[in-house]
Amino acid sequence: LSGLMMDSPLLISSLLEHADRFHGDVEIVSRRSEGDIHRYTYHDAHRRCRQLAKAFQRLGCQAGDRIGTLAWNGYRHFETYFASSGSGLVCHTINPRLFPEQLRYIINHAADAYVLFDIGFAPLVAQLAPACPGVKGWIAMTDRAHLPSIELPRLLCYEELLAAEEEDFCWPQLDERTASSLCYTSGTTGDPKGVLYSHRSTVLHSLAIALPDALNLSSRDTILPVVPMFHVNAWGIPYAAPMVGAKLVFPGPKLDGASLTELFDSEAVNLTAGVPTVWMGLLQYWREQQHRPQTLRRVVVGGAAAPASMIEAFECEFGCDLLHAWGMSEMSPVGTVNTPKGKHLQQSREARLAQQTGQGRPLWGVDMRIVNDAGIALPHDGKAFGDLQVKGPWICASYYGREPGKEHVDGWFSTGDVATIDPDGYMRITDRSKDVIKSGGEWISSIALENIMVAHPAVAEAAVIAARHDKWDERPLLVVSLKPGASLSREEALAWFEGKVAKWWLPDEVVFVEALPHTATGKVQKLKLREQFGQTLLK
Ligand code: ADP
Repeated sequence: LSGLMMDSPLLISSLLEHADRFHGDVEIVSRRSEGDIHRYTYHDAHRRCRQLAKAFQRLGCQAGDRIGTLAWNGYRHFETYFASSGSGLVCHTINPRLFPEQLRYIINHAADAYVLFDIGFAPLVAQLAPACPGVKGWIAMTDRAHLPSIELPRLLCYEELLAAEEEDFCWPQLDERTASSLCYTSGTTGDPKGVLYSHRSTVLHSLAIALPDALNLSSRDTILPVVPMFHVNAWGIPYAAPMVGAKLVFPGPKLDGASLTELFDSEAVNLTAGVPTVWMGLLQYWREQQHRPQTLRRVVVGGAAAPASMIEAFECEFGCDLLHAWGMSEMSPVGTVNTPKGKHLQQSREARLAQQTGQGRPLWGVDMRIVNDAGIALPHDGKAFGDLQVKGPWICASYYGREPGKEHVDGWFSTGDVATIDPDGYMRITDRSKDVIKSGGEWISSIALENIMVAHPAVAEAAVIAARHDKWDERPLLVVSLKPGASLSREEALAWFEGKVAKWWLPDEVVFVEALPHTATGKVQKLKLREQFGQTLLK
């Protein structure tokens, strides 16, 4: 027996239509690459998205064509998201921090028809264009007056394309399984891999992340995504905000503590999201300036583990709730968020903090299990750890333009993370499977050791890597960078772990460096550290 309900497809265009119709006066504020602050409303955005959709048509774009973007968070990027996906094209966000060689690979592999770019990336575009002959045009996201003076035969001007169009475009009623956007993983293991999202996956993910036990996003919020729109669609915020009618603030290219703080306060931002390295910079700025955030109350952190010291700083020093979340490009990206359950409300501060350093529990829509090397599911007892596998409607079923790989097994996706799950469903990542330290057959968690080390007042960043060892196969090696002006000896560093971990977990050696290397998405590049220091313990 079929249900008798309307079969409306779940479409990205419906998010913006809703925002225009029922939250039309809510603002979208952007710090522009041109340097000034731009503000308009969901109503204005919807109008310009329809003009841009017509411009794409006039340029000859066909259903399914990929539209690349090399851009910071801003209203024109937001317009590109909706105009492309909404009209049946695929919005392909490209991470401009990748190496030019990776960018060339990604643009050619995706076969982007057009690429839109922020004027700050003009030199990069000039370098890339000759190596990307398939791109029919490079659209500078600015007006005629700010058009970059680069030698480019196929250079177009965003504002001119828009100005030529009427606003009478009607969003097509696409099949909800139609591809909507494309994002390549940063390729820490081999060539970058494309994750191709659909309208359905995007809308379901937006609904889930807006729920109270996730971002708790509503029309009363003003949200500033620091996480870039080229990093897994800014974790879905550009879709979830119009869905609920939240005010959006886009920071543009300036992600330093001073610039962010200025926007937080001037736009009355109460909710923000970003990776730990950006928050380290912000906390340092707040301390130096003795600043207290005026309206900011919720800070989402993800992309890498949030150490206890960071959670404590936000919550105890600055009065912000820290929301620790986990996910990945292949998961749209959110899988788990760390909010307490009813039974945790009476928890002591220490118990809550201990729980918060974990990655949280799954949203509805994400099923999750851990398995051992033989693929056997392990108990959710908070102790057993194994390869974390997931499945659900916003999880990648296969990569774009690639044969199915070993990541997909029996309908599950292997995340490459090693984790425990406790009886309440709280997941804790102990390592990426390629970073885990196997000492004499026993596993040592590099993340646990790093979290302890960064709590030391002299330490800016810490990474623990597996170094080759004659007797034990692998042993932990600690790599540390210190805060400006701070000092720390090898012995003091090692003494810091005493009483906090089992003796055999203690790193064998300490290496001090100026700064740790980071990937394009702000994660510590352990592979590079292993190449550099992985042999130091060998006799
Ligand atoms: P990439 O895999 O291309 O580096 P992603 O942003 O998709 O980029 O990274 C996903 C990975 O980041 C996860 O598999 C996990 O290892 C790590 N990660 C994300 N969030 C967290 C977190 N809260 N704690 C620990 N690791 C995290």
